[in-house]
Amino acid sequence: MKFTANVRLYCLLVTAVLGAGCGDSTDAPPVVSTTDVTQYSGSGPINIVCTTNIIKDLVRQIGGDRVAVTAIMDGPGIDPHSYTPSPQDTNELTAADLVVYSGLHLEGQFDGPLESLSHRGIPVICVTGGLSNEQPSRLIQTADGIADPHVWFDPELWLSCGQHLADEISEFDPDGREHYSKAAVAFAELMRTTQVEGRKTIASVPVTRRVLVTAHDAFEYFARSFEFRVQAVQGISTESKPGLRRVDELVTLLVDNRIAAVFTEQSVSDRNIAALVAGCEAQQHTLKIGGRLYSDTAGAEGTDQETLAGALLHNIRQIADALAATEPEDSQ
Ligand SMILES: [Zn+2]
Repeated sequence: MKFTANVRLYCLLVTAVLGAGCGDSTDAPPVVSTTDVTQYSGSGPINIVCTTNIIKDLVRQIGGDRVAVTAIMDGPGIDPHSYTPSPQDTNELTAADLVVYSGLHLEGQFDGPLESLSHRGIPVICVTGGLSNEQPSRLIQTADGIADPHVWFDPELWLSCGQHLADEISEFDPDGREHYSKAAVAFAELMRTTQVEGRKTIASVPVTRRVLVTAHDAFEYFARSFEFRVQAVQGISTESKPGLRRVDELVTLLVDNRIAAVFTEQSVSDRNIAALVAGCEAQQHTLKIGGRLYSDTAGAEGTDQETLAGALLHNIRQIADALAATEPEDSQ
C-alpha cells in the first residue's frame, strides 16, 4: 500500500509491523516533515469519519466541540473483522476532512478504501500507530506472530491511543493543540478511574474462578489488565473457523474446572457458545450464558455503553455477577 505524503506522517509509525492495515514496509515512502502535512482550513467542526464506534468515542473524547464525528460501523452488533464497506460508506469516507481507524488489521476489509483516501489527499490517523512503535512493545503477539488488535480493553493502552490521537490531530489542526492536549490528560484520568473501578468489581471473583470463555479471542488485553485467564472458541479474527476439536477442548476445560458461565458477544454469532452449553450438558455440567459482552464495538448511541468506559464496566459487572455469584458445584 502506498500513501501520499500528507497521509504518510500519520501511518509512518506502524508500517513495519502492520502490513496492509497501516501501510506496507516493503514499499514505504521516505519520512516526510510536518510541513508536508495537510492542515485543516475549514471553518466550524472538523468532519471526522471513523471505522468503529469505539474509535468514534475516542475521537469525541479527544476532539470535543472541535470535531463532528460519525462511524461507518456504528452499532453494537457489527463485526469489524468481516465488515465490507459499501459504496455509500466509501462516499462517506471520501467526504471526510479526516479519517480515523483502529488498525492492527482490525478492519480487515478496509485496505482498499483507506488506500484510495491517500490518493485523494485525505489524512488518515491510525490510533494504534504509537503502540506499534513502542520498544519494548506492550502489544500481545498471537501464535501467528501478528499483533492482537483488541487493545481498547486495556485502559493503559487505550489512554496511550488517546494521547497518540491528540498528538496526530494537533498536526492537522494546530489551533486546537492545547485543547487536544488537555483532553488527552482528562481521558487518561478517565481510563485510570475506569481501571480502578473495574478491578474493584472484579475483586469479588475468586482468582480460581477468573476464567473467561467467549466466542472469539478479543479479551487477551482485558485478561492481562484485570487478571483473568481467557479462552475463546474462535481466534483473534472472527474470520477463523473453529473446529470441533476446539469445542471439545473447551467443554473439557469448563467441566473439569466447574466453570459456571460463558459469555456471548454483541458482534459475534452465538452458535459456538451454544455448542459449549450443549457439550457441558451432555456431561451433566450446567453451564449458563453469563451475559452478552461488548467486544469489538461499544453500545448503541444514547446508552450508558456508548462509550468505551461504559461498555468495559458493563462487561465487568456482567462477568463478576456470573462468575462470583454462583456457588461452585459439588466436588468432582
Ligand atoms: Zn475481534
